[in-house]
Amino acid sequence: MKKHLIAALAVLMLLFGVVGFAACKEQSTHKAGSSWEHNELGHWHVCTECGIQMDFSKHTAGEVQTDGVEDWTQCTMCEYEMLRTVHAHSYGDWKAEVPATCSQPGTKGHYTCSSCKKNFDAEYKEIEDLRIPAAHSYGAWVEEVAATCTKNGTKGHYTCSSCGKNFDAEYNVIEDLSVTASGHAYTCLLYTSPSPRDCS
Ligand SMILES: [Zn+2]
Ligand SMILES: [Zn+2]
Ligand SMILES: [Zn+2]
Ligand SMILES: [Zn+2]
Repeated sequence: MKKHLIAALAVLMLLFGVVGFAACKEQSTHKAGSSWEHNELGHWHVCTECGIQMDFSKHTAGEVQTDGVEDWTQCTMCEYEMLRTVHAHSYGDWKAEVPATCSQPGTKGHYTCSSCKKNFDAEYKEIEDLRIPAAHSYGAWVEEVAATCTKNGTKGHYTCSSCGKNFDAEYNVIEDLSVTASGHAYTCLLYTSPSPRDCS
């Protein structure tokens, strides 16, 4: 009885063994898992049937990636991260300043790193904002010329040397600089005898 059991077990084990072996006997019968396994040397698939390592190859470096502090690359096959190094900026050519006008913002002179796309000034310090705000060139304040009885005066103002517009002390545009002549200030006197007296 016991002998039979052992024999049956042996047959069973053999059967499983043979079936298991038969599934992966030939190279072509291994079934590669869908995901890559990897270490620092390379990547490979694992057979889903027998667990054997297959398709081993060395990593293939992809494009260099950067966050502006470090550079690295990933294997194009298994995305293993490799070759992490300190980022060195590639400044390229100096781009000259584009001056702002009265209505159009300008651009500061700068270098751009071709790799991380950050911008830098002439001393290689990073520039966050390249824009130069649009602004008038106000120049010196011109004092008011007071109006007289007969002659118009001129309001105090700045004149933009670029667009020629005039501005008050708060930099608001003044359309008309002139101060109208005040005219004569007549005093009403009643000519009465013996001496003139005031109307009021
Ligand atoms: Zn296999
Ligand atoms: Zn890889
Ligand atoms: Zn850079
Ligand atoms: Zn202007």
